[in-house]
Amino acid sequence: MNSSTDSPLIELRAAVKVYDSLAGPVTALNKVDLQIFQGEFLVITGKSGSGKTTLVNILTGLDRATSGEIWVNGEPLHRFGPERAAKLRGKTMGVVFQSFELLPTLTVLQNVMLPMDFARRYPAWEQRKRALSLLEQVEIAEHARKLPTALSGGQQQRLAIARAMANDPAILVADEPTGSLDSATAAVIMDIFEKLIEQGRTVFMVTHDEDIAQRGSRIVTLADGEIVHSEERLRL
Ligand code: ADP
Ligand code: MG
Repeated sequence: MNSSTDSPLIELRAAVKVYDSLAGPVTALNKVDLQIFQGEFLVITGKSGSGKTTLVNILTGLDRATSGEIWVNGEPLHRFGPERAAKLRGKTMGVVFQSFELLPTLTVLQNVMLPMDFARRYPAWEQRKRALSLLEQVEIAEHARKLPTALSGGQQQRLAIARAMANDPAILVADEPTGSLDSATAAVIMDIFEKLIEQGRTVFMVTHDEDIAQRGSRIVTLADGEIVHSEERLRL
């Protein structure tokens, strides 16, 4: 375990991902080096097909890199099979997708409690209280007993964020979290991420939207599977 504040939370070294397709191999990530530090609001941007989702899948261990190294909290994710990868992900990351991926037959509250049930980090008596407090933070606590389908798109994404925070992850990873929302609703989601950053949390967010990308503390641009630009922003 790495406890130094200077060492990155996640580090990719020469990460490569080649997909096999009918038309032949597709190199989606080409020797990407990237370090993600605690407290950053790191935004990855780039056109459709530039490799953003591939990067998310590789650094969360949802998919395996073809070559290169991925270190998460000092652990070699690139050496792990699916099961150990899932364990490490559950322990360190909360993941949010464009399509929310909520469980439709569970209530809003139960959706947030489910990952706590898996991780067993919090005792049963505390899970409900903690879930309610997370729903309060994203301001949908009054909908706790409803089914996710009764919520608007923006509310469903807020629920997905609350669920991602269930086990108090070191980093929140979000792939196009505002991709299916209108711009006013997207702004509310960005406010929530900024609030998390103010609390000292770490957010890794992917967006193809250049305006939204400007909210990050560091903006990294991908093109054809390579990092072509990286810029730190002064926070007011
Ligand atoms: P982005 O999220 O930036 O739109 P992706 O990571 O989804 O980009 O895709 C990067 C490249 O990899 C694209 O050329 C895409 O067509 C290709 N690709 C993505 N997933 C697969 C797959 N499962 N099989 C073959 N090619 C893929
Ligand atoms: Mg994508």
